[in-house]
Amino acid sequence: MRESLDETHARGAAHAPRWGVTTIVGVLKETAPGEQRVALVPAQVSRLTARGLRVLVEEGAGLRAGFPDEDYTEAGAALRPRRLVVAEATVVLAVVLPDPETSAQLRDPQVLLGMLDPLGQAAAMAALGTAGVTALSLDQVPRTLSRAQSMDPLSSQANVAGYKAVVVAADAYPGYFPMLMTAAGTVRPAELLVLGAGVAGLQAIATARRLGAVVRGYDVRPDARAEIESLGAKCVDGPSLSAVGEGGYARELTPDEAAQQQAALQAAIRQADVVITTALVPGRRPPLLVTAEVIAAMKRGSVVVDLAAGPLGGNVEGSAPDSRVVTENGVVLIGAGNLAAQVPRAASTAYARNIAAALELLCPDGELVLDVEDELQAAMLVTHGGRVTDDRVLALLGAPEPGGDHERSPVH
Ligand code: NAD
Repeated sequence: MRESLDETHARGAAHAPRWGVTTIVGVLKETAPGEQRVALVPAQVSRLTARGLRVLVEEGAGLRAGFPDEDYTEAGAALRPRRLVVAEATVVLAVVLPDPETSAQLRDPQVLLGMLDPLGQAAAMAALGTAGVTALSLDQVPRTLSRAQSMDPLSSQANVAGYKAVVVAADAYPGYFPMLMTAAGTVRPAELLVLGAGVAGLQAIATARRLGAVVRGYDVRPDARAEIESLGAKCVDGPSLSAVGEGGYARELTPDEAAQQQAALQAAIRQADVVITTALVPGRRPPLLVTAEVIAAMKRGSVVVDLAAGPLGGNVEGSAPDSRVVTENGVVLIGAGNLAAQVPRAASTAYARNIAAALELLCPDGELVLDVEDELQAAMLVTHGGRVTDDRVLALLGAPEPGGDHERSPVH
């Protein structure tokens, strides 16, 4: 990446003065279906204005997340119709990539900051690059870098999704989660199993324990197994795999390991009243952990929530995002969609902290200065100087990679 970044730096230097002394950030109302989050909440507006930034907010942008317009103006923001936010902002803030019509209005030298999913949106990135937009994607911050943690939306949003998965499961489950002692007798607690104990899985374990369920968990990383136990849950007796890959993530299991895992988890899945799966491997199809065969052996009324359900498949056979089916034997299978967006106040509050931390990095004295020599900023940068700068996006677009002999990190 060095060679391309040097080039980028030269182009960036030419761009920087045109950003102006006062950085104007613009907050858009999200338009993606089901998206209720907002990129900036009033509490973070004052944090930014204190640094000399101006904040423009599209009218009604925060309403679905529980933040009315007057809360933004009280915090020091100015309200504008969408077209003026897009026209006046130096940095346009978004939760996810804006709709094509809005993206097409962005132009040189505007900056777009959000969870842009550049690897899933390569063509849109190419269009932004050609338009001279500097696209910075927060979902690319290097998560192992400690100073990046405050800007990491994958963690902040997974945390919310893990919580919501338990709430969704409790709602679909026909029984209680806690043990209840009543005059008429004792009600046994629900047994809940969490497969995949990363950020979302650990939050699901903690939430389910607070609701009183008896919780077990499993992960292929030994560190995650220790974290399951530190939350007071039990670890399923499974193969003591140590499938740790790059960046602290899991690696894909070999077919032998996957078969061992499936065999070991069968009994635990059958016994559970609720199963929540969150297992992901960067750049790969999510591992299949709950097969149709084991679902057919589960108790009537059991609930399975697949947080890993996505375009590549999920952890549960037959699950799809935003789907809910009841099997012939009465098991409810829920393929999660965008669960963080369904807890919009909490998710927006956490995301806005990520955004504000990123803006503090990009505007150290209130003025926008892109430093592509900084590994954190370089990792976020997708387009700049009239082109796509991210080598993985370039590879997806079939373009020659600048400085292409370096090792590429896996696509995720
Ligand atoms: P993720 O969403 O990619 O995966 C979720 C979990 O699924 C992971 O714990 C993974 O080990 C697990 N998994 C994968 N294959 C599995 C299988 N076959 N069976 C069972 N479990 C399986 O991961 P994530 O939650 O985004 O992050 C995972 C880890 O990454 C964190 O717990 C942490 O260790 C690391 N991380 C580090 C930092 C940091 O260093 N600051 C920040 C964020 C994440």
